Amino acid sequence: MSKKILIANRGEIALRALRACRELGLKTVSVYSEIDKDLKHLKFSDETVCIGPAIPAESYLNVPSILSAAELTEVDAIYPGYGFLAENPDFAEQCDKSGFKFIGPNSDTIRKMGDKITAKAFVSKFNIPIVPGYSDDLPEDDEQLKTIVNNIGYPVIIKATAGGGGRGMRIVEAEDELLSTIDITMQEAGNAFGNNKIYIEKFIENPRHIEVQIVGDGKGNAIHLGTRDCSMQRRHQKIIEEAPALDIDSQNLQNILDSCVNLCKEINYEGVGTLEFLYENKNFYFIEMNTRIQVEHPVTEMITGFDIVKAQLRIALDLGITLNQDEISFNGHAIECRINAEDPETLQPSPGVISKMHTAGGFGIRYDSHIYGGYYVPPFYDSLLAKIITQANTRKSAIKRMISALDEFFVEGIKTNQPLHQDILNDKKFIENEHTINYLEKEFLKLK
Ligand code: ADP
Repeated sequence: MSKKILIANRGEIALRALRACRELGLKTVSVYSEIDKDLKHLKFSDETVCIGPAIPAESYLNVPSILSAAELTEVDAIYPGYGFLAENPDFAEQCDKSGFKFIGPNSDTIRKMGDKITAKAFVSKFNIPIVPGYSDDLPEDDEQLKTIVNNIGYPVIIKATAGGGGRGMRIVEAEDELLSTIDITMQEAGNAFGNNKIYIEKFIENPRHIEVQIVGDGKGNAIHLGTRDCSMQRRHQKIIEEAPALDIDSQNLQNILDSCVNLCKEINYEGVGTLEFLYENKNFYFIEMNTRIQVEHPVTEMITGFDIVKAQLRIALDLGITLNQDEISFNGHAIECRINAEDPETLQPSPGVISKMHTAGGFGIRYDSHIYGGYYVPPFYDSLLAKIITQANTRKSAIKRMISALDEFFVEGIKTNQPLHQDILNDKKFIENEHTINYLEKEFLKLK
């Protein structure tokens, strides 16, 4: 293959994409912001282009600048990674219109899944259970509204259609708070997202976060790569992820997997994607679909041996998915810890120079990271520094391997959340897989 790919991202995912391109014999163009000139992957890229100043709006979100770089270097396709422009349908459309293949689904699919109400309505046509709720326009009459919500049953959650990143949501415990909470959420959503549309969902009180990885070739073939459990969260942000999700009702799970694959086949889904669910009392409730690679994709790769990033590239280059569903097997258990540059106590970002560091390694240990000794962690971007992934025959062995890997890993000069990971990995409830999405904040941190 003598095609050329532009990598429109930074940090660990840019390095991950570059490695996949090199293995496939693809040429690479890496774009970077002024402050990112020392990023690791730039040293291995065939060509590099500076696309603007550090501020994301002027570089990694600067569509004209990225498209100019693509034109200048005559690339065939653009790899978006996660974050930045990865789920921006207008960007996907502009890439394709400018003659550069956007590596991902088409812009219509990205747009449909990007709006939470249309996404829910859409997936429910495919036998995928959604959180019960109300998403039509609210009735003028307050009594009518109260009846609707009574039928859903308290507690409910009021969510902004345009919300994201865990923002734009409020819980209502009882009827006397309903009208005022709706008003506040609408006001806040109007201010924050320029759109005050809201919808109402049953609040699922103590669920786990379970997601399904899918891959489609854009021509009606699709497979799933099983599940992940991302219940260890803080402020709705995932901290530890695992594959597969354990202790899930097997019949319900099979139905969900079949429905997800069926949806992808029916809509000729192209690329990789993740359907996210809350899971409680053996029931799945769809919350959203991400039409891109996820940060936590390595845990799935480790148990399946399936290279998800290479699959993205192959599919975009019209080479299809190389395996059938019955050729995908699941081996053992994998865990990922996200090491972030942040103060473990205050959660504030901790940018600065890494004076000294040592990575983790050894049998069953994978380390995905762009950092090195002397590297300056800039304050402008996501705080993810490294992903440490361990794989072993059982969940408990994978946890032990992670404890050992984290003991070896160290970063000096800036603060990281490594101590938090070490505490969680030694926590009895985590070890027994008894935690839900509320556990870290509502129990674990309170006990500390
Ligand atoms: P965002 O796009 O902001 O991430 P999501 O709809 O994916 O929003 O929800 C983010 C998180 O909010 C979920 O992982 C869960 O913790 C919580 N959440 C969302 N909807 C509900 C619900 N109906 N019941 C309980 N928790 C919910």
